[in-house]
Amino acid sequence: MVDLVLRSRRAVTPDGERPAAVVVGAGRIVAVEAYEAVVEAAEDVDLGELALLPGLVDTHVHVNEPGRTEWEGFATATRAAAAGGVTAIVDMPLNSLPPTVTVDALAVKKDAAAGRIHVDVGFWGGAIPGNAPDLPALHAAGVYGFKAFLADSGVPEFPPLNPGQLAEALAAVPAQFVVHAEDPDHLHAAVPSSAYADFLASRPPRAEHAAVATAIEAARAAGARVHILHLSAATALPLIAAARADGLRVTAETCPHYLTLEAAEIPAGATEFKCCPPIRDAANQEQLWSALAEGLITCVVSDHSPCTPDLKRQDTGDFAAAWGGIASVQLGLPVIWTAARARGHSLADVVGWMARRPADLVGLTGKGRIAVGADADLVAFDPDATFVVDPARLHHRNPVTPYAGKTLSGVVRTTWLRGQAVTGDAPQGRFLIREVS
Ligand SMILES: [Zn+2]
Repeated sequence: MVDLVLRSRRAVTPDGERPAAVVVGAGRIVAVEAYEAVVEAAEDVDLGELALLPGLVDTHVHVNEPGRTEWEGFATATRAAAAGGVTAIVDMPLNSLPPTVTVDALAVKKDAAAGRIHVDVGFWGGAIPGNAPDLPALHAAGVYGFKAFLADSGVPEFPPLNPGQLAEALAAVPAQFVVHAEDPDHLHAAVPSSAYADFLASRPPRAEHAAVATAIEAARAAGARVHILHLSAATALPLIAAARADGLRVTAETCPHYLTLEAAEIPAGATEFKCCPPIRDAANQEQLWSALAEGLITCVVSDHSPCTPDLKRQDTGDFAAAWGGIASVQLGLPVIWTAARARGHSLADVVGWMARRPADLVGLTGKGRIAVGADADLVAFDPDATFVVDPARLHHRNPVTPYAGKTLSGVVRTTWLRGQAVTGDAPQGRFLIREVS
């Protein structure tokens, strides 16, 4: 007798969407049978027309704990993740204090998270000027790779790398690097303004283009794996395509806000829309969707990066002074599903972008897919139900969101982590540690 069987007419497997019975034993998927299969199980749940998805894997989340826990925290971020159908996150190394740039700092972060996480949590390390000697030990301690900025990160304790320092970091350890690609030589100081256009003009597409070129050249010189984080400027896409055609191990992600929000529609003073790189125009957005459809952009992740309402300058609406970051770990799935469906994409496409490929980026081959042997991280999802985004229903510590009031399709009904429904009571999340090969 197994623990659980979940039956759905719309199970999203690596082969596409089909009726199936997903059989769970000891926290793992032990079989994927026909929908009607007779299975002796302690619990048998028929989801009918509700879709059954693998839990999403969000490799770009800023939890900010310890040190800036008033911005977010492990309990709130992971509760929000579970409510949004995300069963694994990989935490970014900055905005917490200390940033995750040494083995000791990783230990401090894990202490802060222990016993509080409702989904599984892995960690990125950080590459900053001077810490190249620390990278091998931090990698051996289980981080999935290293984040580097090429421009100011927004916090003083996590400075950017110049091209020489980036080369030094890539040479220090054979790891996955993930790069915030904006070139400081093409960024301008934003003038105090409540007009979004003024902020947008301070971070032009050429800043991303130049930094992506820098990252690709560094990857080429070192033979390294480099992933471009939160790509916004479509003008950089041909560079990535050319790098891949050359056989370089260069990949890219984008985020729900770049795919669904448009510069022209951002109201004056609406700093909840501020992020870096910025949300651009509709024509740019079309090109991001094309790149996703072609497989040039492989992942859609949240870049959940909250702060407190005062730092977001909700009072003055000054885009220049506001913290750049959009919190959306709870909303990414319905935001993307709503837009993807309208463009003719399938749930299987969405699962590829938001579950399987982010899992593959960090080598989590036992997550992000409904397959025998994978963790039983699963989501009952009603693709046809709609809801209006109410910030009061977000589990984020600071429920500030550019999606407030929007009507979205797709409601997460239940999220299971290793076969256990996530209720918000007893946290069942575990640490994810990179497997050392
Ligand atoms: Zn980020």
